Amino acid sequence: MSDRQTAVPARDTASAARPVALVSGGSRGIGRAIVTRLAEDGYDVAFCYRSRSDAADETAEAAARHGARTFVRRVDVAEAAQTRDFVAAAVAELGGLDAVVTAAGITRNRPLVLMDDAQWQDVVRTNLDGTYHVCRAALPSLIKRRTGVIVTLSSIAGVYGSVGQTNYSASKAGIIGFTRALAKEYGKLGVRANAVAPGFVDTDMMSSMSSVTREKHLKQIPLARFGAPEDVAHLVSFLVSARSGYITGQVLGIDGGLAI
Ligand code: NAP
Repeated sequence: MSDRQTAVPARDTASAARPVALVSGGSRGIGRAIVTRLAEDGYDVAFCYRSRSDAADETAEAAARHGARTFVRRVDVAEAAQTRDFVAAAVAELGGLDAVVTAAGITRNRPLVLMDDAQWQDVVRTNLDGTYHVCRAALPSLIKRRTGVIVTLSSIAGVYGSVGQTNYSASKAGIIGFTRALAKEYGKLGVRANAVAPGFVDTDMMSSMSSVTREKHLKQIPLARFGAPEDVAHLVSFLVSARSGYITGQVLGIDGGLAI
């Protein structure tokens, strides 16, 4: 269904007054949980994904079950023009944006001495450039609202660094600097910007981890479990809401105590 883009009509319960959220990387994992949670919170939701249209369709259907209008498009956030077009089309379809969440992200893990340029560039272009492309395109709409909110997905790797992930850690650290600068630059215009820094969250992104490594990491987590995508979605739900109206420029760890 959503090979390129879909717009699922609103159910009877939806009204024109629903706020609008845009989520990059909303088809699977943490992004999917965020799309579903924001739909449940009463948002209409636009989201993009890179390749898995089957997963995108499932996510759009889950959001529609909560009464949300959805706008879905296949977009590579590493590409500025595609991302700009997606954001403009989402605004035209659903109305001005109230919240933006940048969840699209990838890993290409390798020790630095073995890393090739493509592995470095793919990660930085998707994670960091992608965050810039989405926020750059969405900002004018958020500013118009005077209450716009941005939540970026960083990582514990962006705060502390992670072995085998120099590319990923650099991209996620960059997102923190970017988010804090945004918070300072647009606070006076009513736009808040915060980063969330998850530890290990059980999604496809963790699927290449061996069972031995999983066990080793699990032992280091005080809450003795990996995070669920919904754990992160609850935090994002709070950060886009008026309940967090005096929080901006922060990096909120969500890691079961791993970083303590
Ligand atoms: P995931 O399950 O692999 O899902 C990644 C999502 O991003 C998918 O919807 C994917 O679309 C989309 N995506 C990837 N590259 C894209 C691109 N170039 N353009 C547009 N969309 C793209 O990952 P996840 O675990 O949910 O991670 C979500 C975010 O949380 C990422 O930024 C990640 O770095 C961050 N994070 C994750 C963890 C963790 O342990 N899982 C920890 C800390 C931070 P397709 O399905 O179509 O490819």
